[in-house]
Amino acid sequence: MTGLDQRSYFFDEGIRFKCRRCGDCCTGDPGIVRVNESEIADIAEYLNMPVSAVVETFLYSWGNGHSIKEAGDGRCLFFEDGCRIYPVRPNQCRTFPFWFANLRSEARWIKICSQCPGIGTGHLFTKADILNVLKKNM
Ligand code: SF4
Repeated sequence: MTGLDQRSYFFDEGIRFKCRRCGDCCTGDPGIVRVNESEIADIAEYLNMPVSAVVETFLYSWGNGHSIKEAGDGRCLFFEDGCRIYPVRPNQCRTFPFWFANLRSEARWIKICSQCPGIGTGHLFTKADILNVLKKNM
């Protein structure tokens, strides 16, 4: 056990979550969604497009990698009546809402709960599950 595991958190009893695929987190305010090379290759294969076309159409350079472009209304460019790449969505989307930025304080978490109807429903993610997601993404 590491120090992280031994500390007490507001999610010690775990958090239930099941994505309802409502799209609320993929629309509205713009944000950075990191996509790495391997994820870009998976998306290209899934969409049956060349990698270069996926990069040019859907992504822009950000830091050492890429982020997903947004449409004029702020929605993710892959979101059209639902996520077009759901089975191969990037790790950042896959691990929502268990992001450090969301879990760093209970006040922040309460805000996220009000924005995501999937929180509080479905599978129970234990404290260990949640810490594992956080550690993998550090
Ligand atoms: S807001 Fe929550 S329930 Fe809706 S798509 Fe995003 S993660 Fe899923």
